[in-house]
Amino acid sequence: MEPPAQPPLEDAAYARVAPMASVVISSRGVERILSGHPWIYRSDVRDAAGAEPGAIVELRDARKRFWGQALYSNKSQIALRLLTRESRPFDRAFLSERIRAAAAYREKVAAGAQAHRLVAAEGDLLPSLVVDRYGDCFVIQTLSQGMERLKPAVVEILQEIFSPRSIVERNDVPVRALEGLPEQKGTLAGETIQEVVVEENGLKFAYDLLNGQKTGGFLDQRENRAAARDYARGRLLDAFAYTGGFALTLARASESVVAVESSAEALGLARRNQELNGITNVEWKDANCFDFLKAADRAGERFDTIVLDPPPFARQKSNVEAALSGYHELNLRALKTLKPGGYLVTCSCSYHVSEADFLGAIASAALDAHRTVAVVERRTQSRDHPILLTVPETHYLKCLILRAL
Ligand code: SAH
Repeated sequence: MEPPAQPPLEDAAYARVAPMASVVISSRGVERILSGHPWIYRSDVRDAAGAEPGAIVELRDARKRFWGQALYSNKSQIALRLLTRESRPFDRAFLSERIRAAAAYREKVAAGAQAHRLVAAEGDLLPSLVVDRYGDCFVIQTLSQGMERLKPAVVEILQEIFSPRSIVERNDVPVRALEGLPEQKGTLAGETIQEVVVEENGLKFAYDLLNGQKTGGFLDQRENRAAARDYARGRLLDAFAYTGGFALTLARASESVVAVESSAEALGLARRNQELNGITNVEWKDANCFDFLKAADRAGERFDTIVLDPPPFARQKSNVEAALSGYHELNLRALKTLKPGGYLVTCSCSYHVSEADFLGAIASAALDAHRTVAVVERRTQSRDHPILLTVPETHYLKCLILRAL
């Protein structure tokens, strides 16, 4: 196959003075590509002598065969992130095509949601790029050296397609350190926005794009919040409530709601969201959910519906055992306070904890709580966070809806 041609030089983000560098990969690196995975580890790089940090490089095997184009990092263990198997230049037009394709898919699966993930990195064949949309405001994350270099082009393309009011970067995330990139956040284009209010599942939510957790909200739970609403009734407990996503979505279906969260900033926005929607039956509690559940059980409090949406317990593979005992503990306490016939919506966003292991931890919690529990729905992240069949890392969220018999 012919080597890719030089991208046009007038294209600022792509301007190169030297021809595109080749990186030579091992046969195991080639196997990774053939298995449908976009990451090639440093141990499978044979020669990257000519490659600049963050450059788009062509991949060759020892026999000089062309395998695709990738973003190169000289720091991360993930040395190469495949962009395409094609040889046509991965230029601005190509990048724009990928972003437009991602946006077109959101018109199908997130049409009613003003806040959604527009580009989900590997899941949209744009490794290490996240673009979240909050109405006419956009938040981006560029999580590799290569995507960091393409950031100006991404901003331009978003401006071209959407004419946004604001584009914010939330690159204040620790993974950037693995790439040797600094943590930074701020407005990249347009107005500096303090707060944006958008609709989700028929309710209004305020987001703080510069200071909120993640890019402002937990967009991956949108469909689960809507699904959980079908089962809510009576007295609801929303544990790990953040800014009230579940609590407020389920409030109208419930008699009363107790929402527990340990972040004061999150609770501030939660109260604001409650006001925006004229909801009056939610009580916010600034507390640790583990302690709250223990005390609630001791005090004999009982709930008809419980939502558990904790932060990731296992950020690394080595933490899986500890994470599973955390899930066991949390779900045990919740099941003890769940009324017979009640529903438990329980989530895990730790990629390293498989759905099978998560189900196992909850089964053992149910046994310990002397409860018989049925699985009503086995759910995952919202569809605007695509799961690639050959990239297990793209499937991270588990959301089980359970019924206590
Ligand atoms: N359910 C939310 C997202 C929850 S994210 C939604 O749908 O939007 C997890 C939340 O748990 C974060 O807001 C974090 O501040 C909070 N948190 C983390 N540990 C906690 C603890 N031990 N007790 C209470 N809240 C906690």
